[in-house]
Amino acid sequence: MRLAVLKERQDAETRVAATPETVKKLIGLGLSIAVEAGAGLRASISDADFQAAGAEIAPDAAAALAGAGIVFAVQMPAAEQRAAIPRAALLVCIAGAFTDPALVPALAEAGIDTVAMEMLPRITRAQSMDVLSSQANLAGYRAVIEAAAAFDRGFPMMMTAAGTVPPARVFVIGAGVAGLQAIATARRMGAIVSATDVRPASKEEIKSLGATYIGVEDEESQAAQTAGGYAREMSEAFRQKQAELMSTTIAKNDIVICTALVMGRRAPVIVTSPMVAGMRAGSVIVDLAAEAGGNCAETQAGQSVVSANGVKILGWRNWPGRIPVAASNLYARNLMTFLTTFWDKAAGAPKLPEADDIVKGVVLTRGGAVVHSQFQPAQAA
Ligand code: NAD
Repeated sequence: MRLAVLKERQDAETRVAATPETVKKLIGLGLSIAVEAGAGLRASISDADFQAAGAEIAPDAAAALAGAGIVFAVQMPAAEQRAAIPRAALLVCIAGAFTDPALVPALAEAGIDTVAMEMLPRITRAQSMDVLSSQANLAGYRAVIEAAAAFDRGFPMMMTAAGTVPPARVFVIGAGVAGLQAIATARRMGAIVSATDVRPASKEEIKSLGATYIGVEDEESQAAQTAGGYAREMSEAFRQKQAELMSTTIAKNDIVICTALVMGRRAPVIVTSPMVAGMRAGSVIVDLAAEAGGNCAETQAGQSVVSANGVKILGWRNWPGRIPVAASNLYARNLMTFLTTFWDKAAGAPKLPEADDIVKGVVLTRGGAVVHSQFQPAQAA
């Protein structure tokens, strides 16, 4: 069976869905691998590197996809690439299934069996395939590195003969995978770190990393976590309580790292314009939620802007893509693990049992139909 690795088409997308390491292992399963020319360049992997690992380099998407039974990509392939995916091929990528209501039915219509890696259930068995975790972890790290670079003061306390440089105060909003890595990174760099989240379990996690927990603890927050491990969308009353606490907290901090997301919805706006106005000039807000609408009211997705009072707001869209080599290595391993977990050796093809929890979570379309419970016509309406 042939597996095609596509070159990403989005400007901000620097990652690639396979590496020479995973190509070798995929060939070990009995697959032949076709890589679209230039697919790895932005992650520092040349066509020659892929070739040396045993892949064939195809001059364009159509050539890579001709006869492919499996397609690996980071983002949902562009329309022009999708049109060349053979019927019944298995497409594995971050599908962005909620972004466009027409997308999932169109994939079914095209006869593409689609696996949305971002919809993987957060269960122990799926951890090694969990693209959201592997990428969010790197995004959290990168957010702090970029905040430090944009900050015109120091991170650690430095006592010098010329005087003392005070430590930076970093406040992390959302203590999921990205937020926890941001806390750990900022602590390692010597900042004084505090953090907030709505899920009750986050309090101990924040404290265990040596940061101070700040948060609204009420009846609603006790039930803020869904069975799937995600945060719920909070009520207006909760948001008001949170806003009061946030405005006093944010005014005391130099750097705010925003990572709060609610699965399948717009990110909550937590840092309002008056809160930005209350920060010192030269402070930095990094908004990892920019792509999902932003946690800061002044974020402009895809841009770095400066507020009227001199606060820098970094709203880049694709944070893992800003550390492309590490992100590609982990993402490619996630996809390879997914495929090997569901590999039928005898058939030399993937087998995705319908009753499996992981399969139920990720498979959107199969055999020309939309099969995912969250994308049935009644729900879509
Ligand atoms: P996420 O990216 O969906 O959200 C980031 C964080 O923002 C979450 O911690 C969330 O609680 C928080 N948040 C949402 N709304 C907020 C608000 N209004 N104010 C403040 N914070 C808000 O989350 P994630 O990083 O993907 O993690 C989600 C959960 O899944 C966590 O409980 C995590 O520990 C768990 N997880 C489990 C596994 C596993 O067992 N396989 C793997 C990864 C993550």
